[in-house]
Amino acid sequence: DIDHVYEALLNTSLDIDLLEPESPLDDIWIKEVLKKSGKKYKRAQLKQEKVRENKDAVRRPEADPAFLIPRFPVVTIMGHVDHGKTTLLDKLRKTQVAAMEAGGITQHIGAFLVSLPSGEKITFLDTPGHAAFSAMRSRGAYLTDIIILVVAAEDGVMKQTVESIQHAQNAQVPIILAINKCDKPEADPERVKKELLTYDVVCEEYGGDVQAVHISALKGDNLMALAEATVALAEVLELKGDPTGLVEAVVVESRTDKGKGPVTTAIIKRGTLRKGAVLVAGKSWAKVRLLFDENGKTISDACPSMPVEIIGWKDLPSAGDEILEVESEQRAREVVDWRKYVKEQEKMKEDFKVIETKRKEHEDSRRRAWEKLGSLQWKEREYIKYQDIKKLQNVKPKEKIEDLNTLPIIIKGDVDGSVEAILNVINTYDAADECKLELLHFGVGDINENDINLAATFNAVVYGFSVNASKVIQQLAVKKRVRIKLHNIIYRLVEDLQEELSGKLTPSV
Ligand code: GDP
Repeated sequence: DIDHVYEALLNTSLDIDLLEPESPLDDIWIKEVLKKSGKKYKRAQLKQEKVRENKDAVRRPEADPAFLIPRFPVVTIMGHVDHGKTTLLDKLRKTQVAAMEAGGITQHIGAFLVSLPSGEKITFLDTPGHAAFSAMRSRGAYLTDIIILVVAAEDGVMKQTVESIQHAQNAQVPIILAINKCDKPEADPERVKKELLTYDVVCEEYGGDVQAVHISALKGDNLMALAEATVALAEVLELKGDPTGLVEAVVVESRTDKGKGPVTTAIIKRGTLRKGAVLVAGKSWAKVRLLFDENGKTISDACPSMPVEIIGWKDLPSAGDEILEVESEQRAREVVDWRKYVKEQEKMKEDFKVIETKRKEHEDSRRRAWEKLGSLQWKEREYIKYQDIKKLQNVKPKEKIEDLNTLPIIIKGDVDGSVEAILNVINTYDAADECKLELLHFGVGDINENDINLAATFNAVVYGFSVNASKVIQQLAVKKRVRIKLHNIIYRLVEDLQEELSGKLTPSV
């Protein structure tokens, strides 16, 4: 009941001041709850006035293809657990570090860039569970250009292999097959390729366009061939990016660094990110203080496809959040305020739903209780009636109960109104008089057998107002020595009653 609802209210973050004027909750009811909670109630006209126009940051329209320049691919490695994804990523990362001058420190920041001797580059996403990939997928924007599907040569296609393929197909991201653990004697790469045909992953030798590379992540065998296959596919895809204008990027990882504060790793989608840029992501914003690469080196700028660590966030954005550059800090604050407000509204709507459900439950249980009570009362009435009839049928008058001080009567009238009028008169009868009127029964309708039986039992007089007593009833009355008195004028009936009373007082016998 109401306590339940009250609890529900307390469990929500509902700020009473924020109640929407168009809330479906009815005022009275909510006041009842709020009175109990001790919270103040006022509907939010104020807030309503404050409803701002949408001031969210917006993505720029698609760039003119003429201004686009080639960019390198962003790659996600997917596959079944234990098939060697981590080993492969580590090897790729280390190869890169080894190729650089000493002092490079590899740290896991969610993405890293690999430069090939040919000068080509590949960005690898290295996020746990590919959170960023999924988050972006659900928004219809994809961070990944190519998926490297790792399948262990001795194990073949497994559950997560199939899931990865479905991911790729749903997102329409092309696959490169990395058949791993080829160093193992039991490795059977050809079996893997055959198995994959079932899932519409058709390798080149079967007439499809999926490149398959036999590798050993553990030994580092053929990793260059894998990288070259990736570059070749990127060329076919003709990946282009727009290095100008306001930056658009995606958060791939987010953490709080002791020294740097909130840090994100992002992949640039568009524009060129530089120090001093003002960014918004989720409900946070940043004035970019520093940019780092995955080796912890500061960089001056980051162009499309590049992974970059961004320092300068006020709060921590989430992996998968889209980063948009805005013109000014003022604008960034506006955007974040707006987003918080929208979120607040959504939360409120959720809270209202909870309360509304509780209210309905409360109402329902009340209605059910009333229905139950109603039928109970009805049953009780029926039962009492039944008892009356039983009583009347069973009681056999052994002797007449004569009480000189009471006059038992039964009153029958034609309509409720007349019966009521007579009862009113009886009520005004002065009980101080020595003889009491005893109303045994009253009702609407002609005088019937029950009336006569009842009257016979208690030696009562049956008064009828504008009703009939049939021949049969009259004969029964005579037989049982019951007197029936029929009247059509109320005051006559009353006079009659008074005469009866005085007759009792002065027994004529
Ligand atoms: P993940 O779960 O897909 O990330 O798989 P891991 O990279 O953690 O690899 C799982 C196990 O397979 C580890 O014991 C690796 O050492 C081993 N492994 C990975 N790649 C190879 C490989 O090319 N050859 C062999 N023999 N073992 C490998």
